[in-house]
Amino acid sequence: MPILVFLEHHEGELQKGPLGVLAKAVSLADGEVAGAILGPGAAGLAAEAGRHGAAKVWVAEDAALEAPLPQPRVDVSADLVRRYGFDTVLFGATVLTADVAAGLAARLDAGLNWDLVDLTQENGKLVGKRPALDDTVYVDVGWKSEPRLALIRTGTFEPVESGGDAEVEQAKVQLEEFSTRAKMIEQAHEESEGPSIEDADVIVAGGRGLGGPENFALVEELAKALGGAVAATRAVVDAGWYPYSTQVGQTGKTVAPRLYIAVGISGAIQHKVGMQGSNVIVAINKDPNAPIFEYADLAVVGDLHEIVPKLTELVNAKKAALFPRG
Ligand SMILES: Cc1cc2nc3c(=O)[nH]c(=O)nc-3n(C[C@H](O)[C@H](O)[C@H](O)COP(=O)(O)OP(=O)(O)OC[C@H]3O[C@@H](n4cnc5c(N)ncnc54)[C@H](O)[C@@H]3O)c2cc1C
Repeated sequence: MPILVFLEHHEGELQKGPLGVLAKAVSLADGEVAGAILGPGAAGLAAEAGRHGAAKVWVAEDAALEAPLPQPRVDVSADLVRRYGFDTVLFGATVLTADVAAGLAARLDAGLNWDLVDLTQENGKLVGKRPALDDTVYVDVGWKSEPRLALIRTGTFEPVESGGDAEVEQAKVQLEEFSTRAKMIEQAHEESEGPSIEDADVIVAGGRGLGGPENFALVEELAKALGGAVAATRAVVDAGWYPYSTQVGQTGKTVAPRLYIAVGISGAIQHKVGMQGSNVIVAINKDPNAPIFEYADLAVVGDLHEIVPKLTELVNAKKAALFPRG
């Protein structure tokens, strides 16, 4: 089962999501896994893909691949699939890969399953698992033909460093005329400290219970003390209290940190679907009947204005005791 994994990268780093997908692909394919790294700096990242299990890495650094636009990536990926007969192409789901995968599905007339949270082999067939009905049930999905394309939910699989060495090859860049029509006019870069919510091991998320944007400082200080990232509910981003890029949930991002601390969040189903994959969920809420307590591992009932500063203080004190020189 030759599998191609699309390895997205930003600012000189391969993303954790697709590296996790690569690890899963290796476990399914028994070594026949290739990676595709397209865009500036691709060749320099091939060795890392090899260390994470890719037997071969296709790289392309053409100027047309500089901006994070999907169509040139569809052209190069489609050529790889047609030329080398990959029967499966896997993507870690992001804004860019959603477009690339959809474009590739159209180009190759292939089936695309998205939002997968698992992949298995059953009687020689690839079977995907995806949540349905607002994440209340999981359903098995398959493909009627090859190539099979799949977008995997963020944070589903952990990367595994196996220490391998990939063979590196140049991918052919032959672009369709229509693929170069879209131009990137501007890319805004949001300055932020600490890890992004997709990559963070710890997330502290704030909800409407904070009472106002100024109180996000409480959440930020706790996140800083824990070396984590700050997330938010839709209610607060809609109110303009915090940036949209931090929204977790059905219409926001899906995250799966080791620890998710929900502060003043009721736990609506639309929020739950974005964070229920977290390893440990701690909820701080003054309402003992808040829905979030139905799925939190640790429930703290009380006023966040009292609890959060104390928690931050305790974490900082513990850190100072453990690492006296900072
Ligand atoms: C189609 C659709 C898509 C949606 N997508 C998303 C999504 O992607 N992400 C998302 O988050 N939501 C989404 N929503 C909105 C969702 O339904 C909820 O409205 C939202 O998550 C509620 O946000 P919240 O928990 O911050 O606010 P609330 O529901 O208002 O909860 C605030 C909580 O804070 C507690 N609280 C208040 N004061 C204190 C205090 N002093 N100390 C401790 N606790 C306190 C309250 O008890 C309450 O439980 C979507 C809705 C729809 C219809």
